[in-house]
Amino acid sequence: MKKTILSAFGVVAFAACAISQTTGNWCGSDHIIQKQIEADPNFQSVLHTSMMNAAQSRTEEGGARATLVVPVVFHIIHDNGTGNVSDAQIQDALDELNIDYNRWNPDTTSTRNTAQAPFSPQAGGMDIEFKLAKIDPSGQCTNGILRINAPSLTYDAGEDCKQTNLGGSDQWAKNKYFNIWIVNSINNNGGAGITLGYAYLPYGGGGGDGYGILMRHDWLGTIGTAAGGDGATLTHEMGHSLGLSHIFNAPWGSSDGCHTNDCSSNGDYCCDTPPQEVPNFSCNSTWNSCSSVPSGDTYGFDTYDQIENYMSYNSCQNMFSGDQVNIMEFNFTNISFLASIVSGGNTVATGVNLPDVLCKAQFSGNQLSICAGETVTFSDESYNTVNGWTWTFTGGTPSTSTDQNPTIQYNAQGVYEVTLTATDGSNNDTETKTAYIRVLPEPSILPFIESFESYSTLNGIDEWEVYNPGGNGYDIYTGTGYTGNQCAKLTNFGQSAGNSDELISSPIDLTGITSEVTLSFRYAYHKRYESNDEWLKVFISDDCGGAWAQRKTIHGTQLSALFQNSSWTPSAQWDWTTIHMINVTSAFWTDKFRVKFEFESDGGNNFFLDDINIYTGPPSETIVVGLNEADFQLEAVSVYPNPTDNELNVRFTVPNAVKTDILVQDVTGKIIQTSSIVAGAGSNWIMMNTSEMASGMYFLKVQVGDAHKTVQFVVK
Ligand SMILES: [Zn+2]
Repeated sequence: MKKTILSAFGVVAFAACAISQTTGNWCGSDHIIQKQIEADPNFQSVLHTSMMNAAQSRTEEGGARATLVVPVVFHIIHDNGTGNVSDAQIQDALDELNIDYNRWNPDTTSTRNTAQAPFSPQAGGMDIEFKLAKIDPSGQCTNGILRINAPSLTYDAGEDCKQTNLGGSDQWAKNKYFNIWIVNSINNNGGAGITLGYAYLPYGGGGGDGYGILMRHDWLGTIGTAAGGDGATLTHEMGHSLGLSHIFNAPWGSSDGCHTNDCSSNGDYCCDTPPQEVPNFSCNSTWNSCSSVPSGDTYGFDTYDQIENYMSYNSCQNMFSGDQVNIMEFNFTNISFLASIVSGGNTVATGVNLPDVLCKAQFSGNQLSICAGETVTFSDESYNTVNGWTWTFTGGTPSTSTDQNPTIQYNAQGVYEVTLTATDGSNNDTETKTAYIRVLPEPSILPFIESFESYSTLNGIDEWEVYNPGGNGYDIYTGTGYTGNQCAKLTNFGQSAGNSDELISSPIDLTGITSEVTLSFRYAYHKRYESNDEWLKVFISDDCGGAWAQRKTIHGTQLSALFQNSSWTPSAQWDWTTIHMINVTSAFWTDKFRVKFEFESDGGNNFFLDDINIYTGPPSETIVVGLNEADFQLEAVSVYPNPTDNELNVRFTVPNAVKTDILVQDVTGKIIQTSSIVAGAGSNWIMMNTSEMASGMYFLKVQVGDAHKTVQFVVK
């Protein structure tokens, strides 16, 4: 496959995003560079000039300079799962990085020096050391590792991770620290492959506040969640950050990776990395994708591909070339923020050469909201060296511990404080977290009926928990509601895109259910702009919130097609949509059931919730009053997807709240499923579980009194 030409005169030399349509493990750097070029047409010539200058500088290697010391900060964006990698894994990754950059790697002997692959004499290393920062930007001690619990950012991750105001973590000044963000997975821009990491080149400002590496935890280093790996992904991405391109890049103005253009002003700007036509993942030592020889080529004949190169995609990487080292050395002198990072003054300012002493006691718990009788495991995160721990747990059993990572049981509802005093033998520090562990009340019994009429706020109440990482959270709104005069409102108008807010119930006892349960709720929402794509996700848990299963996702125009540029509030029952979920399957019928409403903002408008009801199967007249079958007019009934496999969405509209029967019949007319719900005035939406139905055609009948409508659907 040849690389894609992106525009008539702005031809991109980097492997274009289109390539990532293929499966495989990919680097996302070319995509981010392409976006920079699209945003600023001048950027391409800045890149070209910068890379050519670096490549042609011919810096003398091995000069009498001191070791370059690079202070590093890691931002671990996690969801309290395995992606919250250990300090040991992070240090291991830095150790591997130092080994690769200094060419201390044990597999240097694998760098070929054969007639058609005479690469070993051209391989180079730098005198450089990457070290965790010990003083943070405000002058306080640090271990160079920030841990940010951001479940909505760590999957399918991108630049949002790098913004504190979106729940992520801001870059520490790039002229003092090298920033590395670690996530669970990375947005692959619609491709079929997996993106392992990406980084900005340092040229033209280096992507500003985005400069640094973003990569997956399971490719970080060689231990922990990356056990069995070789750590080379970080080495590769660091190569980009320090100014290197992929060795398979085509020259500017060309789509041909097998070029003959001058190698010091084209392709990857290196003359000792032979042209490679396209990325290649294997480790075939006779691979030779190009027969071309660029002018100025170090070897002067058609060599094999340099599959050893860290800037390839091949799986047997073990070398940088001398030209690549030269470019990186040049940039540490000539790009001002990189020169600043390795300056002697910055070594002092970031504390990287200070001895390790205990300077901070720090800890976290694996779950902060639990049911009575459950346990929390606490992790010591103190730094920079620690050999003793004294814990106290108000309300916990046991109430004290000297273990490093104790597991504590909590038996009574309440909100509790935790204290850790850590020591290294001569220095002590204490951290206290007040109101840290929340032990939830006894479970509610069915029917669970919530119309938000009985509270003045959602903050600090037992019944609902508000997760609000930034901006505005859910709270009580007085003045309107579907039922009564109050509802829950997320003041999303004016909130930043990317913000994610949650409203989570206390435990509810579903153990008495024998056949069916319905979870219903109503929402009211308008977009702010027609282009808004905001998401409502409904999750359920059978273990008090330890694990969540996503049960419904509604977004964009599905959520609402209506928009209003000013702050919106519902004014009539007609503004509300009622959702009936009958896909709370039997695995969730425990006494630790919880439901969570997550809303992901796209800078749109306000979102309202009301009448969150959970009740056993039919009938449901006791749940809602004001039935009026006389006024009934059934509007269109739609079902989708059709054909379906696991779940069928049923939508219909009624003018008033009304008891509604929903029947599923097979082609012989036999009734195989019935549900009875109270439909709300306005649009109603029912999610039916069809996973256990046999393949074939069915009829779905929506019936009120004598009126009914029937539609056909097919189960695959
Ligand atoms: Zn790359």
